[in-house]
Amino acid sequence: MTHHTPTPPVRGCGNTPILKQRGQREVFCGLTGIIWLHRKMQDAFFLVVGSRTCAHLLQSAAGVMIFAEPRFGTAILEETDLAGMADAQDELDDVVARLLARRPDIRQLFLVGSCPSEVIKLDLSRAAERMTQAHAPHVRVLNYSGSGIETTFTEGEDACLASMVPVLPETDARELLVVGALPDVVEDQMLGLLAAMGVTPVRVLPARRSEDIPSVGPNTVFALTQPFLGETTQVLERRGARHIPAPFPFGEEGTTAWLAAIAAEFGVDAETFARATDAPRARARKAIATVAEGLRGKTIFFFPDSQLEIPLARFLTRECGMEALEVGAPYIHKQIVGPDLDLMAEGPVLSEGQDVDLQLDRARASRPDLTVCGLGLANPLEAEGLATKWAIELVFTPVHFYEQAADLAGLFSRPLRRHGILKDLNGGVA
Ligand code: SF4
Repeated sequence: MTHHTPTPPVRGCGNTPILKQRGQREVFCGLTGIIWLHRKMQDAFFLVVGSRTCAHLLQSAAGVMIFAEPRFGTAILEETDLAGMADAQDELDDVVARLLARRPDIRQLFLVGSCPSEVIKLDLSRAAERMTQAHAPHVRVLNYSGSGIETTFTEGEDACLASMVPVLPETDARELLVVGALPDVVEDQMLGLLAAMGVTPVRVLPARRSEDIPSVGPNTVFALTQPFLGETTQVLERRGARHIPAPFPFGEEGTTAWLAAIAAEFGVDAETFARATDAPRARARKAIATVAEGLRGKTIFFFPDSQLEIPLARFLTRECGMEALEVGAPYIHKQIVGPDLDLMAEGPVLSEGQDVDLQLDRARASRPDLTVCGLGLANPLEAEGLATKWAIELVFTPVHFYEQAADLAGLFSRPLRRHGILKDLNGGVA
């Protein structure tokens, strides 16, 4: 049975040697994930156990979003806590008791560890267990780390989802579980496509509300919508679930290949598959073609940041006509991004981890038309005349599946266009 899956290149990147470097890195911290997770999980609350710096980071990352009842906050560790002069566990119990008394709508509470809480070795798993007992059955308290030490900003979501897996109810049902936080409207499109293929019921992690929390067991098969969910994948496998390897649903091809992998798993026939996907595929292809005009023939260089780099490079090279010079990712889990690597033609340098100075030298030497990087690198590179794209926007914007494919291409064509206009205004010098 075939599902019109994309044709791989003669030689893909699956066996390309990976340049591994360790050194100074330029990354955002895992607390950032709270910004999109709190929007997704409507009866959850994220309590960062951290310092004023952490509170400040969250507030500025959340920007202008103002909620009457916010779903995240910070329990500030004061200097007395940090110096070991107060019992931070007792203080945390008080903060949580007050919060839950004020907010009966909270059904799931995440205690989120930070650099300061880790420095003083505050045991948040012990706190979460104690609080779950104290507030059961109304509230489930879990904990994970969003600390910036040795993490990338998308690892916060991975750690959060992984913390939920061990307490998911057990099931023997053969069910599809889709894993990764998507904006509700995108999730609904995905569920619509799967339903049109006859794949039901479908469970999602994270669920919008705690009553929809999925069960998991030996007959669960799961597909990832985000490539940064390595730890979540491992803990799901530990619960007996099986991963369906697939390219990620970015662009028309990626979406089709992702759906095709699920269709193959559930024995969907080619005709049903075509009926469900032909129209949105054609729409996506047409929409991408218009936006991709400005990308064709342009070169791109990815610094490691969001962990979306490999699937995005696959999309941009295959569907938008770009040439990838280097694709850097914080970690390369072949189990997860292998299908994307196989589809990407040999050519770009693949790098894992980062020694930022050496990588900056490579970027300067190759003068890419567009550089995808974190905020810390974007300004200096722009000052040197290179067009940049902030990786973090890729996670804040709806980019998955057919209807968002052109918007995804647009995220890359816009900075190029802006750079071109600036260059013209400056008489050819950007
Ligand atoms: Fe900074 Fe660490 Fe707090 Fe993140 S967790 S804001 S890196 S102190």
